[in-house]
Amino acid sequence: MTDTVQVGAQVEAQCGRCHDATNHIILTMDKGKAKRARCTACEAEHLYRKPRGKEDKPPRRAGSRKDDPETAYKKVLEETPPGEAVKYSVKAHFKAGQRVAHKSFGEGVVLRIMRPQVAEVIFLDATRLLAMDR
Ligand SMILES: [Zn+2]
Repeated sequence: MTDTVQVGAQVEAQCGRCHDATNHIILTMDKGKAKRARCTACEAEHLYRKPRGKEDKPPRRAGSRKDDPETAYKKVLEETPPGEAVKYSVKAHFKAGQRVAHKSFGEGVVLRIMRPQVAEVIFLDATRLLAMDR
């Protein structure tokens, strides 16, 4: 079966609110693809997402959302006031909530000071313990 993709058509899509693949009405299109859709189950309007299982990416483990480092990182960044990232060096001193620019890991945020000379820093891909005050 081929879905007819046009505005007003009903297609199966992933709904973030229902946490399931439900029927959606296509609201807007972009370059021949559904862009925004409304869930017929909860009436939420959101960007069209392919139903789970049809995505190219491997599905995430159920309940692993909180552990997803990228999601956690973005959340921390949102909660961190904007400021100049301090260039990482083992000789530098960091404080919780400080932005850090690491030459290999990219930009991160200090979550907390684990113990003297060790800072826990969250990066886009993982949380790492970095030496400081050396
Ligand atoms: Zn829904």
